[in-house]
Amino acid sequence: MPSILKAEDVCFSYTRATVLDHISFDIQSGDYVGLIGPNGGGKTTLLKVLLGLEKGQGKISLFGTPLSEFKDWQKIGYLAQKSPVSQTRFPISAEEVVLMGLPSRHGADVSRAELKEVHAAMQQTQTREYAGRIFQDLSIGQQQRVLLARALVSKPQLLILDEPSTALDAGSRDMFFDLLGRLNKQDGVTILLITHDTGEVGKHISKFMYVDKNLVFFGTKEEFCHSPEVAKKLGPFAQHTIDHLHNHHGHCPLGAACEECKHD
Ligand code: ADP
Repeated sequence: MPSILKAEDVCFSYTRATVLDHISFDIQSGDYVGLIGPNGGGKTTLLKVLLGLEKGQGKISLFGTPLSEFKDWQKIGYLAQKSPVSQTRFPISAEEVVLMGLPSRHGADVSRAELKEVHAAMQQTQTREYAGRIFQDLSIGQQQRVLLARALVSKPQLLILDEPSTALDAGSRDMFFDLLGRLNKQDGVTILLITHDTGEVGKHISKFMYVDKNLVFFGTKEEFCHSPEVAKKLGPFAQHTIDHLHNHHGHCPLGAACEECKHD
């Protein structure tokens, strides 16, 4: 599988304290990676460094190209934890927000083809009905789905999402994860997602990455369940609970010792 996002010995500090310490991994085409770890462990910083928004040390390549030479940004959709659009006071419609996700638009005129793409992306995230509404007037959950449409409108091959579900109600969250699951499985979009919804996301993802300044773990869900490094951080039960859903029915590796199964 071709490499989509590769990090080699990536290090970063804001001031003196090290935030990321020699992080190396290789995310391949079709992977759906859940990035987890404690608060302050460096997850958001890692995404920013990978995208060149913060300057780290080490080697990063995107789609096989060194970050410093990479230009195909329309191949990447990024949904940040706090979007600058959400904070701007300048009123802007939801449709215009999504339009901003299209690459290199020349002039102010919107072509019919562009508008069609915008509406298709809004359809995908079930935000089409808000197209004409002022973005800032929408609820946080609705804004988040509009921002996801903006990340999707250029039909990215890699989606990078920083805790997208935090502000969503349960119904929107299910819709959100189902949509990401479909994008990954049907359209082959590679996904790197910071999440606290580990139980929910465990149904869809293929790999876990655990970052706590160091890369504690990177591998498949099955390996995660049995990783001594993860057990050291989380304890064997928590480790299993996080990924509990993938082998829930009769295949629990912890058997009778599993706290979760006992409650079923
Ligand atoms: P996580 O996403 O895992 O919660 P962060 O990447 O947000 O972790 O933060 C990692 C560490 O870097 C924390 O100690 C945090 O306080 C610090 N940090 C984050 N952003 C900044 C910043 N802009 N300036 C200085 N320190 C920061």
